Amino acid sequence: MVKENAAFIFQGGSLLFFRGELPDAQQAAALPLADFGSFGSLEPRGCSWGRVARDAVLPEGWEAVDRRAFGERFGMEAFKAMSTAWGLMDWKAQAQYCGRCGTKMVQSPADERAMKCPKCGHMLFPVICPAMIVAVERDGKLLLAVNKMNKTGRYSVLAGFLEVGESIEDAIVREVREEVGIEVDRDSIEYLYSQYWPFPRSLMLAARARWKSGELHADGVEIEKAGWFAPDEVPQNVPGTITVAGWLIRDFLKRHGVTRD
Ligand SMILES: [Zn+2]
Repeated sequence: MVKENAAFIFQGGSLLFFRGELPDAQQAAALPLADFGSFGSLEPRGCSWGRVARDAVLPEGWEAVDRRAFGERFGMEAFKAMSTAWGLMDWKAQAQYCGRCGTKMVQSPADERAMKCPKCGHMLFPVICPAMIVAVERDGKLLLAVNKMNKTGRYSVLAGFLEVGESIEDAIVREVREEVGIEVDRDSIEYLYSQYWPFPRSLMLAARARWKSGELHADGVEIEKAGWFAPDEVPQNVPGTITVAGWLIRDFLKRHGVTRD
């Protein structure tokens, strides 16, 4: 549960806690805030977001915590609220100046989630970047890979941003081909669910697909290694239940009669 007046204050990529807990707006007022605002009409209403400079010195009792670890500790609902706060904070930080004429932007009087250029009228809304994430299956086995960016060497499903002009299906076919050298059956692609993912501003579109042809060959650039895993071979150390990657893997296991926390 998120308390009614919770304040999600960020410093760099971290979330700030006061005495080991999420602060409220009153407590957050003690911080050297660079920006602060309310959730407005977004849920959970009454919450607020804010930002302190990366080099700001925190008053006593405050500490920066990892945003992912926050979700794992407090659960899905709290993670979602934190994600909304991050999205609002990130948008305001990115929309300081007009990209067209360089003038300082102001809050649009007509739309609470629009920044407007007082000189040329250019509008900036929160940016959300679609990305696909896919569980590819071949003869009852799941494709899992280790991304080079992941320092823990953890296996997960493949994911990647959509390119300009692409459909989700285009992106799935291309990413899987680029990253592990196989073809998926385009007609087998089935959309499942989505998740807003604040690292930094993605909308993850989750799908299932079936292998069509080719043998696995990790590209060595983004993907370190890849393999096919039968339900009883799926490693214990896969993404957790607050991530869409974790849902896809658990969905695969469940459909094959394996339940995992
Ligand atoms: Zn302008």
